[in-house]
Parts: sequence; structure tokens; C-alpha cells
Amino acid sequence: MSQDTAIVWFRRDLRLSDHPALTRALNHEAVVCVYIDDPKREGEWPLGQASRWWLAQSLATLDQSLQARGNRLLVYSGDSTSVLTQLIEAHQARAVYWNRVYEPSPREYDATLKDHLKTKYAGDALHVESFKAQLLKEPWEMLKKDHTPYLVFTPFWRHFQATWTAPLRLPAPDRIPAAPEVEGMVPTIDSAQLAPTHPWTEQLAQVWSPGWPHAQAQLSAFVDQGLSQYESARNRPDQAGTSSLSPYLHFGELSVGEVIRACDPSGEVPDEDNAVSFVREIVWREFSHYLLYYFPHIPSQPLKPVFNQFPWRSADEYAQDLADWKKGDTGVPMVDAGMRQLTATGWMHNRVRMVVASYLTKNLLIPWQEGARHFWDTLVDADLANNTQGWQWTAGSGADASPYFRVFNPTLQGEKFDPTGAYVRRWCPEHADRSAKQVHQPADHIDLKAQRQGALAAYAQIKKDR
Ligand SMILES: Cc1cc2nc3c(=O)[nH]c(=O)nc-3n(C[C@H](O)[C@H](O)[C@H](O)COP(=O)(O)OP(=O)(O)OC[C@H]3O[C@@H](n4cnc5c(N)ncnc54)[C@H](O)[C@@H]3O)c2cc1C
Repeated sequence: MSQDTAIVWFRRDLRLSDHPALTRALNHEAVVCVYIDDPKREGEWPLGQASRWWLAQSLATLDQSLQARGNRLLVYSGDSTSVLTQLIEAHQARAVYWNRVYEPSPREYDATLKDHLKTKYAGDALHVESFKAQLLKEPWEMLKKDHTPYLVFTPFWRHFQATWTAPLRLPAPDRIPAAPEVEGMVPTIDSAQLAPTHPWTEQLAQVWSPGWPHAQAQLSAFVDQGLSQYESARNRPDQAGTSSLSPYLHFGELSVGEVIRACDPSGEVPDEDNAVSFVREIVWREFSHYLLYYFPHIPSQPLKPVFNQFPWRSADEYAQDLADWKKGDTGVPMVDAGMRQLTATGWMHNRVRMVVASYLTKNLLIPWQEGARHFWDTLVDADLANNTQGWQWTAGSGADASPYFRVFNPTLQGEKFDPTGAYVRRWCPEHADRSAKQVHQPADHIDLKAQRQGALAAYAQIKKDR
């Protein structure tokens, strides 16, 4: 009789602790751990350059951790269904487990795959099961009293606070028994081969350490040193006032439950002001995934349909402005600093993300989808739900969005949130000699007032058409 073997399919859960699929697989005699690089599964959103760099490092770290526990990570490139089917047959596996993801294309893929496996192996007692691990609450657990989804964050947050109970922490196992290797099932690629060859990604290694042990270390460092000042420091791009956990959370190198428990070991929603403020941001992440679950069209189309009529400039007209924005060469210091931070580090402070997004959409009248695509390719934390929500919120077309008539003034934003100009001087050395008063002034050819009038006139047009 063959060994009782389970397959764990790793995806956006590149960790060993708080991993329900892995924990469940340990009830079997042997475990096969697999990652499949299959861009087709991601539909119109295959991973961008920065994400692929992160992924390659993260998988290598996961493999090391598995090897230290007597197992290894098999990395394949190809069609997920056919790789899994070959593994099931080669190992005569009794079960396949994975943790759920919620983006539209992989979600559809998973549903079809589950049906396919259940039908194909109906008589062979193959157990196929998926688990909640990426979110704190399943989207279907968070409906309004009338059973429709929330479109406003505050009641969503209240619902969350009222109903949250912390799940048990699942410790990382000490040993994960491996299945014997089978002929013909040699991994097709090494995780390192997933990394893009673009030289730009080399500089990311100087800033980031991907992988789940680093995620744990970053969380501990933030809770020890940053959390107690989060509320006052979180809007300051000139300080390290936020957790920098976003790429770790995106790749599931850290579970959200672990993050909340680290803020309050009782596992309750904390009541200390800084911790509440931080957990509220984590719940914004939940809300973004929730919206994407119920409105799968929003990565490319506005949530508010009236914005389909918005009079954006034409691609020919805005091509040069878009190129300058991407390069950080607009002449607006706060915008240029943000875009250069993005290029240099694959990350940008949240306050500055709002400023650069507002400048692109409202001052330059360039469609938010252009900005979202650029972020998708360059952010190490590129996340379809959060990125979509961030762009639609800033553009005014999303749920609970910043009103369209709120045009961020990059000079005032700079003066308020980068009061000494340290952030701008760090990323834009050409302003190094400017005083704190002058450092946020745009170049002479930029007329922020006229741009704002243009934005309001464009908005008036869709209001008129409504
Ligand atoms: C235009 C725009 C695009 C964005 N694109 C992304 C993206 O692709 N990926 C991404 O993870 N975040 C995105 N955000 C949200 C936010 O900017 C980042 O999550 C945050 O800057 C990450 O830094 P941190 O981990 O230090 O945040 P912290 O302030 O320490 O927050 C902790 C965690 O909460 C979550 N979070 C914080 N703010 C938000 C928010 N506004 N919406 C949703 N979740 C949030 C993140 O998971 C973050 O890691 C975007 C925001 C805007 C305005």
C-alpha cells in the first residue's frame, strides 16, 4: 500500500506558521510542498517586475526552511491543473490542500480546479480542501443586515470590531515528513529563475529582505519600536513611522492574525489608541479585498459608473507628462520625491502615494488606470485589491472615496507632512540647498491653481451628465 501523502499547494501564503493548509496536511504520513509559476492563472494581472523579484527570494527562503524540517519546496513552471494532476498521480496522493486567495482570476481558477479534481478522482477518495488564511474575515461573513456588501468603511470597521475573534495560532512545525521522490516529477525550475533579469531589481536587495523569518523580525521590531508612536508618525514620509509590512502581508509571509496578536497578545481588537489606529489600517486591507471580491471589475473600471464618462486627456496628449511622472521629473518636489523613492526602493509612503496619485489623476488628468499599472510593475507590495482601492479612492471613483473636488495640493501636503523638507531633499538632491520654506515650491512653469480649476471643470462635466 502506498504512503498516505498530501500535497500542499503554496500560493500567497509563503510561511510555515499560521498556515492552515500545511497544518491539515500534517495529519498525513508525508507531505509534498509545491509552488507553481503559472502567470495565466493571474489573468490580466501577471506579477510585475518588483513582485517577481520578491517572490524568487521568498520561495528560496521557504525552501531553506522546509529543508531544515526534512522537506523541500518543489517549484514548477506551467499549467497549475496539469502539474497538480501529475503530482497527485505520481504520489498517489490522498489529499490536496491550499489556502484561499480572493482576486477574481485565481478565484475563478480555483473553483474550476476544485470541481475538476473532485470529478476526476471521484472514486479514488482524493480529498480537496481550501482554507481561510489570507484574510481575517471571509467576505461573505461581513454583509450588512440587508445581506448586501458594505460600500462605506466605518460601518465595515464597526462590524469587524463587534464580531472579531482571534483564531488559534498555528505554530510552525518542527518536522514536515517528505514523500519519496518519484521519477519524472523533477521540478522544472529553480526559484531563482523566477527573478527578472532587469538590473533595476538588483537595488531592491539593498533595501529589503524577503522571506517569512524576516517578516517575523520586521513585525517584532515594529511592535517594539514603532507601534507606540504610530498615530502621530504614520503620516510622516520623512520618518520611519509605519510598519513596512505590506510586501510581507501581500505574499502571506506573515498572517494577519499574527499581526493583530502581536499588537495585543490577548488576540482581542486592541483598545490602545496607536494599536487601534494600526489595526484599522489592517482592516482597510480587508475592506479592499472585500470590495474586489464583490466587484471584480474594479481593477480596470471605476466602481462608480459615472466616472466612465470622465473627460481624461487622450493618450497622445498625456504621453510626455506620464513619462515625466514615472521618472519623478514633473517639477513638483513632493511628487518627484515619491516617484524616485518608488524607483529606488520598490515602495512609497502611503501619504505620498495619495499625493502622486492625486497629481496624476486630478492635476494632469491622466486616467488612474495608467498609474495603477505603473505601481503594479514597480511596487514590491503590489497588491491587486489594495492598489485598486488606493487608486480609485484617490481618483474619487471608488467606494468611500476621497471626493473628486478634493484635489491634494502637493505644496501644502509637503509643508504639513514633510515640514523640514528632509524627505524631498533625500530623493531630489537638486533641492538640497533650498530652505524648508522653499523646498516644496513647484517649478515656475507649474500652475497648481490652474490645474485644480481644470480638474474641477472636468468633474463638473460628469456631474452635469449624471
Ligand atoms: C494609490 C495607492 C496605491 C496603493 N497600492 C498598494 C499596493 O499595491 N499594495 C499595498 O499593500 N498597499 C497599497 N496602498 C496602501 C498603502 O499605501 C500601503 O499599504 C502602505 O503604504 C504600506 O506601508 P506599511 O506596511 O508601512 O503600512 P502601515 O501603515 O504600517 O499599515 C499596515 C498594513 O495595513 C495595510 N494598509 C495600510 N494602509 C492601507 C490602505 N490605505 N489600504 C489598504 N491597506 C492598507 C497594509 O497591508 C499595510 O502593510 C496604496 C495606497 C494608495 C494611495
